[in-house]
Amino acid sequence: MLVDSHCHLDFPDFAEDLDGIVSRARAAGIGRMVTISTRVKKLNQLLAIAERYDDVYCSVGTHPHNADEEDGIAPDELIALTEHPKVVALGEAGLDYFYDNGSPEAQARGFRAHIAAARVTGLPLVIHTREADEDCGRILEEEAAKGSFRAVLHCYTGGRELALKAVSLGLYIGFTGILTFKKSETLRALAAELPSDRILVETDSPYLAPGKFRGKRNEPAYVVEVAKVLAETRGVSFDEISRQTSENFFRLFSRVKA
Ligand SMILES: [Zn+2]
Ligand SMILES: [Zn+2]
Repeated sequence: MLVDSHCHLDFPDFAEDLDGIVSRARAAGIGRMVTISTRVKKLNQLLAIAERYDDVYCSVGTHPHNADEEDGIAPDELIALTEHPKVVALGEAGLDYFYDNGSPEAQARGFRAHIAAARVTGLPLVIHTREADEDCGRILEEEAAKGSFRAVLHCYTGGRELALKAVSLGLYIGFTGILTFKKSETLRALAAELPSDRILVETDSPYLAPGKFRGKRNEPAYVVEVAKVLAETRGVSFDEISRQTSENFFRLFSRVKA
């Protein structure tokens, strides 16, 4: 079994054929999918999807792109929204300095509020970090010093230093189709080096279709392609990488029924 630990099933790209998307994923051996929140105020749309399919779960949080729009959401508000049994994680929240969406200050405030909620609930935080290694590493260290929390740096594209720092703080690293791109040698070298109990696979669909589907709409079934390349990169079998990443997923996303 494989798990797609990060997709966006509520995006309009999927509206026409969600049943088809989910059944193709099942047929491809994808046992669980987590559809990740980008706006707290759209949680109901995510819950409607998670309630429709047994094997689909969701998170709650504010993507850094929407940090200004949802600035000031307190940890308590996030915590209250995690009471629904299908909400299994916080986020995605974090820092994105690549796009000019969301001021760095609002992104950092949101990031810290989500960490606080993760700490209290024990649920994992899905962290989005892009072109922000230094600030992300600093915030993770400062927050970890206040008390431990669980998290994954999803769709990892950052440097080796931040990844190793995250691992040393007990966090996980998630890989998408970017791992399959020709030019991603540095990322593959990092993926080969990380401890086997800290790696996850994901699609971040509808974006980032892996290698042979590049340029097309991505979907959860294609997480198979990410796992194939991750297995090759680490010199283990596809079955072994499936087993390991799924085991890691259930350990981290502990509210999801195994
Ligand atoms: Zn993201
Ligand atoms: Zn995402």
